[in-house]
Amino acid sequence: MSERKFKTLAELLYWSYANLQMADAACGMGKTKYDRLCFMIRSKAFKAYMEGKWQISDLYKQQIEKLQQSNHACAYCGKVFSSPKEATIDHIFPRIKGGTNEMENIVFACKTCNSSKGDSDMFGWYIEHFGEFPSIYLTANYLKKIYLYAQAHNLLDAELSTLDSLDLPFDWHCIPISYPEPDHFIKI
Ligand SMILES: [Zn+2]
Repeated sequence: MSERKFKTLAELLYWSYANLQMADAACGMGKTKYDRLCFMIRSKAFKAYMEGKWQISDLYKQQIEKLQQSNHACAYCGKVFSSPKEATIDHIFPRIKGGTNEMENIVFACKTCNSSKGDSDMFGWYIEHFGEFPSIYLTANYLKKIYLYAQAHNLLDAELSTLDSLDLPFDWHCIPISYPEPDHFIKI
């Protein structure tokens, strides 16, 4: 399944995003397993991104805004804050690695998640910490941030092998290429 090989960062991001869209569509249709229609959605999306017809930054804007407005609970573990003091500001791209204070880079997190995540790659940390794949919203936010960063720094066409020597605010090895079945996203 995950034998697919990617040459550039853009290819890897487009593939990951096409999978995310498949997961989102499958959840919207109430499916618990991917079927042929889902795989068609994925290949159509991948093709549209590769051909430049669709842009990652166009999508999920509403969902991301929704996520940022939900400051009553930890964006990672979902713990509801009983007082505003419990909410800490977490930078998805760590500040020490060039992450900004823009709203797009900020989520509210509980102290436990915030200090545990530290300067780690958000996605890699989440999977290690919780032992499961993050929600569609968090995944979309993560991929979109990488996409915009890569676009701003002319890294979309960079070969993946060249990225390891750069000091980046994300770890491309953590970009997911295989996604769990839709029932995983429905339950979280
Ligand atoms: Zn938390």
